[in-house]
Amino acid sequence: MKSDTPVQYVKGVGPKTAEKLERLGIATLSDLLQHYPRRYIDYTQPYSVAEAPFDVDAVVKATVYSKRGAVRLPGGRTMVQVMAGDDSAALTLTWFNTQFMTDKLLPGQEYYFEGRVRGNITRREITNPIVRTEAEVKRRPMVAVYPQTEGLGSGQIARCIESALALADPLPEPLPPDFLPRFRMPDKWTAVRNIHQPSSPQALAAARRRLIFEELFTLQIGLTLLKSRGSVKSGAPMKPVGLTAFWDSLPFSPTNAQRNAVEDICNDMTGKQPMNRLLQGDVGSGKTLVAAAGIYMAARNGYQSALMAPTEILATQHAATLQTMLEPFGLQVALLTGGMKAAQKRATLEAIACGAAHVVVGTHAVISGGVEFANLGFAVVDEQHRFGVRQRGLLASKSEAPHVLVMSATPIPRTLGLLMYGDLDISILNELPPGRKPVKTYAVTGKKREDMYHFLEQQMQLGHQAYIVCPLVEESESEMPGADQLQAATTYFTDVAQALLPHRRIGLMHGKLKAKEKAEVMQAFKKGELDVLVSTTVIEVGVDVPNATVIVIENAERYGLSALHQLRGRVGRGSSEAFCILVSDHNGEAVRDRLRFLCHTQDGFEIAKYDLEHRGPGDFFGDRQHGLPTLQLADLMNDTRTLETAQKCAHEILEIDPKLAAPEHAVLAAQVQHLFERTTFN
Ligand code: ADP
Ligand code: MG
Repeated sequence: MKSDTPVQYVKGVGPKTAEKLERLGIATLSDLLQHYPRRYIDYTQPYSVAEAPFDVDAVVKATVYSKRGAVRLPGGRTMVQVMAGDDSAALTLTWFNTQFMTDKLLPGQEYYFEGRVRGNITRREITNPIVRTEAEVKRRPMVAVYPQTEGLGSGQIARCIESALALADPLPEPLPPDFLPRFRMPDKWTAVRNIHQPSSPQALAAARRRLIFEELFTLQIGLTLLKSRGSVKSGAPMKPVGLTAFWDSLPFSPTNAQRNAVEDICNDMTGKQPMNRLLQGDVGSGKTLVAAAGIYMAARNGYQSALMAPTEILATQHAATLQTMLEPFGLQVALLTGGMKAAQKRATLEAIACGAAHVVVGTHAVISGGVEFANLGFAVVDEQHRFGVRQRGLLASKSEAPHVLVMSATPIPRTLGLLMYGDLDISILNELPPGRKPVKTYAVTGKKREDMYHFLEQQMQLGHQAYIVCPLVEESESEMPGADQLQAATTYFTDVAQALLPHRRIGLMHGKLKAKEKAEVMQAFKKGELDVLVSTTVIEVGVDVPNATVIVIENAERYGLSALHQLRGRVGRGSSEAFCILVSDHNGEAVRDRLRFLCHTQDGFEIAKYDLEHRGPGDFFGDRQHGLPTLQLADLMNDTRTLETAQKCAHEILEIDPKLAAPEHAVLAAQVQHLFERTTFN
């Protein structure tokens, strides 16, 4: 049977099951065979009865002593009990409603029983264990457990796969043939058979290693193809520009780190290759200024710049900041957001197309279809981890080959950085502007809420302002996922904030406001017309109001540390002492530890590391918007060695065959396409 045969033609599948498999993304025989197990039940090292741990799934080897006849229970259920054991202890096995399980058991014989041992030292039992004989275990020592879907259990999936393995033609080999001996890896078909039905733990390990490599190799090839789409070799050619006038116009002098980063950018932009640089600097280190200097340079060379920010609030703020810095030099800043009125938008697009706008700031609206630049030479992506790989690629594709600067407060492990950005250079702002004091951070419970509000009141009497980040509600399955959050924010605003600070001017900010309303609230807060801003996490990144000295974060346990650190970075931007209060009623050990860690650490890199170690990469990238396709086996954090090898190999192949067009790469090309299903390569 060919590998592209629809699953429903596999013996034992049929249309009903096919429909359920479809929900797991399985359409063809080949998809089914590449639906890999989540884990295995290992029968090669069974426990003795006495050693078997209580209350977890385990395999126990024991001899059957005697069987009792079925007992009919009240309510119509039947129960069968078998007495078993070994030299170490006795074991009672009980089955409900399954006579046939015990039929094959012969007294005096040894069997393997899989299930949860319950009881205590004197009495052990397993209810409804799975039974396997010595011969069965010999034939298949490890049993695969599959990710399941509603109405389709792991056992059923295993049966479908068993019949698929028997029927299918061997899957074709996507890896170049010399890779197999070079890395001592099994071929695809052997690996696939062994991942489903391993003949030994060693065979399984080899299969996994090979398939993880294949997954990362495919991913890397796809990402490289995606990035090189439409790109040309040379960047917008620029001449060096003196920056003295620009530096002199600022109300402060740049830090050395900022000067160095700007110098790196100058060198890149006057070089032959298009710049591809990451600017990494902790919250508050002054990345915006570095971008502004680059924009100034580009403009002096007659090129336009684009700055993409993850939220409308941040885009609006950046537009205002850049306007202050660049308008004195006669440069025009245009703001482009999703919620603009049609007429206004048309005028802005026109200004961008004719070159009247020197800088365009916006959210992903900047990369939408309708935007045409006159001559884009410099593209900046702020808080890059919020954007997918694809969105970044699109911004770059807006012109021949703009110089690209991505900015981030979140340090990225080297391998991941390579994976997401390819060969990119890094500038680091390892210095905060002078006079910054650490933000005093406290973790409190909700019982302290009134005291805390009292403290807010004191800060306001000193003329300062405060942010309060709203409580989060559990994500529900309701029709409008944002609706509950909005409800929670509104309730908190009236019932807590206004109630506890009756004489203060309080604003409410949330994602459901129109762009114009958001801008108005933000503006009022910035101008000091509001004392308190109650907000959802839309203020998380980048917002800059130096007079705000306190940030309260309700339900702090719901956030990763990097997100909390970003939020905390909203304060401590001026010269006054600043405070961050983490409110949480969660008393889990891990949560308490995490919050305590943040109270004692201000270093973004340490914080990111803690998050990575304790919560994994999902949280690390915020909302899973990193744009990478889902991997089945590989783990980007732990398989870094394999990732590095896969990257080298991908490079080798693309060197020879940059578009993956050669006939011997057809299987690989199809596989890459499949992994990035919704992305077109051309
Ligand atoms: P981030 O790196 O988090 O994006 P911003 O660019 O928003 O930081 O800068 C944080 C604050 O520091 C802003 O208010 C900015 O005006 C100020 N700032 C930036 N550079 C300097 C500097 N060299 N000296 C003093 N203040 C600075
Ligand atoms: Mg910023």
